Amino acid sequence: MRRLYKKDFALKTLKHWFEEEKRNFPWRCEPTPYRVWVSEVMLQQTQAVVVVPYFERWMERFPSIEALAEASIEEVIKLWEGLGYYARARALHEGARYVMEHHGGDLPMDVESLKKVKGLGPYTIGAIRSFAFHQKAAAVDGNVVRVMSRLLCIEEEVDRPSVLETLRQRVEEFLPDTQPWVMMEALIELGARVCKKKPDCERCPLQDVCMAYPLGKAVALPKKRKRPQTIALQRYVPVICCDGEFLIQRQEGKKVMAGLYEFPYFDKKTSIETFYLGGLQLYKRLKEVKHTFTRYRVELFPSIWKASEKLELNGFTWAKGQMLEKLPFSSGHRRILKQLLEEHADLTY
Ligand code: SF4
Repeated sequence: MRRLYKKDFALKTLKHWFEEEKRNFPWRCEPTPYRVWVSEVMLQQTQAVVVVPYFERWMERFPSIEALAEASIEEVIKLWEGLGYYARARALHEGARYVMEHHGGDLPMDVESLKKVKGLGPYTIGAIRSFAFHQKAAAVDGNVVRVMSRLLCIEEEVDRPSVLETLRQRVEEFLPDTQPWVMMEALIELGARVCKKKPDCERCPLQDVCMAYPLGKAVALPKKRKRPQTIALQRYVPVICCDGEFLIQRQEGKKVMAGLYEFPYFDKKTSIETFYLGGLQLYKRLKEVKHTFTRYRVELFPSIWKASEKLELNGFTWAKGQMLEKLPFSSGHRRILKQLLEEHADLTY
């Protein structure tokens, strides 16, 4: 890897750009360790503008690590509903309980102690050390990887651990001794606003020191290893109702959807009559719902069925229609629930 040159110039112009362009997010106003922690976890896989209302609601309901630790996991998941990747919410909750038990409710400042907090990885630890504790620490997320791989014209695959580690060291070298956290945040902001997947080099403050730009390689970087292919799934989702109650299941264990509710579902080979033997009658087909999670691309085919009797099925429970809205549903099934509540509310009484 080549070294970044004209570092002083780059720092100065980047700082100036950041002062002019910096967006005001609630977590930037008051970067306490807890607020940085929550915001950084929410920002994983989610755009900042989407995170803002979730972050504000969260801070209102759980203003401290203690408040979060004392809450039930059901309430935590419900507040997270819509952000996706629910493992993040579960890890935050578990992490808060750990911090209460082992650190008296204050996030520790050192790397080794932070590593023991559930859900904290190299990026989040770097972000907490930098933004909350003002340490000279690299927080290397996808934005920073993009910026640095282009600035330094790194042509190795950046998702290889050794390359990522070298990149992290380069970021740390790049940071100044004075207010390193400002430059760390500026690099992230530059990646989010200018050095995007399709880079806007013409308005980039680092154009003069960027090594990929004059070589015409910016768009081709960073290079990554090939990802495993997405798996397509098709599922039939019978929304079974009987006397204003609906059959639902709560996903348990360590599944991606653990803690979330869903309607029954099964693949093409299973027929609904073999699943439910309680006198079913098709009432209405609902609109197809497409959603993706992890590496699955799922098509859901929902339909409403009226049952003449309520069967007790292993792993399932009956819930009153009016209660459904209060339960945390997985994102695909929440969209089915929305159709049900908007178009067939009469069934929920
Ligand atoms: S000049 Fe282009 S490629 Fe280089 S850092 Fe700026 S936006 Fe990214």
